[in-house]
Amino acid sequence: MTPDRLHNLIVTVADCVIEHADELTALDQAVGDGDHGLNMKRGFEVVRADADNLAAKPLPEAMRAIGLQLVMKVGGASGPLYGTLLMALGKTLSVDGENVAVAFAEAVEAVKQRGKSQPGQKTMLDVLAPIEAALSAGGPELSHRLPVIAQEAAEATVAMQAIRGRASFLGARSVGHMDPGARSSALITAAVCRALED
Ligand code: ADP
Ligand code: MG
Repeated sequence: MTPDRLHNLIVTVADCVIEHADELTALDQAVGDGDHGLNMKRGFEVVRADADNLAAKPLPEAMRAIGLQLVMKVGGASGPLYGTLLMALGKTLSVDGENVAVAFAEAVEAVKQRGKSQPGQKTMLDVLAPIEAALSAGGPELSHRLPVIAQEAAEATVAMQAIRGRASFLGARSVGHMDPGARSSALITAAVCRALED
């Protein structure tokens, strides 16, 4: 991972989240308190502004630094969870990123512990877990397949009832809406794959 490539990765992901803030807010208005877009935008604006500095670090260190920024700036439930994901990734990831499947699996475990949550509860984990499974299975064309897997997984949260997070307060009325965090995870997945393709 060269600094240029890491810089492109950081900027591509941050821009994607920032551009989709209104969509994420609208999703969170339906099942939560309507701040997911703003939360994510605030956090990723800080990350984007720091891209030069972040990209100069070794990959694992950059992931940890981004994780810390997300914890501090995103807020809400999603900030500590995305922060945990990135910080755990940074803990295990090798400098060349070759062990991404193992590192991502450990990071998803850390999110489950932090959120006291599991897939099937209509959260970001319903996207993160299928991504983890696809990464572990490996195979060709991952950068093409992962965004599709992630988006289908986000769409599958529409039919679920929320068991964790603010949406769970709605009970059965949470059914029929896509989980905002699942959608942001799908967006980030697509942006990561796009950036690594270039
Ligand atoms: P808040 O719910 O505090 O307003 P956000 O709106 O930023 O925070 O984020 C909401 C998203 O966070 C949800 O859509 C869901 O994907 C995710 N989330 C909330 N609680 C949990 C949890 N316990 N485990 C996993 N993900 C969660
Ligand atoms: Mg919210």
